[in-house]
Amino acid sequence: MTRRTLVVGNWKMNGTRVGNVELLGALREAGPYLAEVAVCAPFPYLADVALSLQGGDIAWGAQDCSAHESGAYTGEVAASMLAEYGCRYVIVGHSERRAYHAESDQLVADKAKVVIANRLIPIVCVGETLAEREAGQTDAVVKRQLSAVIHTVGHCVPQIVVAYEPVWAIGTGRTASPEQAQAVHALLRAQLHAATPKAPDMRILYGGSVKADNAAALFAQPDIDGGLIGGASLKAADFVAICRAGH
Ligand code: PEP
Repeated sequence: MTRRTLVVGNWKMNGTRVGNVELLGALREAGPYLAEVAVCAPFPYLADVALSLQGGDIAWGAQDCSAHESGAYTGEVAASMLAEYGCRYVIVGHSERRAYHAESDQLVADKAKVVIANRLIPIVCVGETLAEREAGQTDAVVKRQLSAVIHTVGHCVPQIVVAYEPVWAIGTGRTASPEQAQAVHALLRAQLHAATPKAPDMRILYGGSVKADNAAALFAQPDIDGGLIGGASLKAADFVAICRAGH
């Protein structure tokens, strides 16, 4: 079993056309990396990002997509469109989508399915809120969220990447300790294992206030295979340092 670290930047709703070129140029210049590196940009920037990154080894992706293939869904973006722009990854079920757009476990699972159908890789986010952690519900919550995806994508389970992102750690500066994160990752790995013998090859990322100074300790955990990076992916030096913490 060898799992190459995957470090994915989630720009969220940040960036400018000029600033993005600068950031991506710096990321390319600092490579190559032992880790696999990707950036998930806002939809309107994907064409620019593709131009900046094509021919290199940094991949790109989107932060969401529709659960539908095409049709009368004003304002939505289809996975097939993301494929046309060379995306490799699509984040689905980010806690900000679950919280602000009322995305259900089943909707997230449907999105993962349509992403796979378009030969892209869904990064499926799961994670508990602070109230759920304090009520001792962490395991039940993440299992429920992942279970919907496992049941919906069926034999395609090995094609997903999972990201454990405790909601209380996202953008708060509060990181799960490596041991706290590892405990949940081990649980998620066991759940994947019950669904597919390929679970040992699958990547489970940690996200939530990953920084240059805590990335190496997190990535050193046996079931943490990289990170989904929000705030720190917007500054070249910080993101490069996190990418270099991977192996
Ligand atoms: C995220 O948006 O997925 C995330 C982990 O954000 P941050 O790194 O800023 O906590």
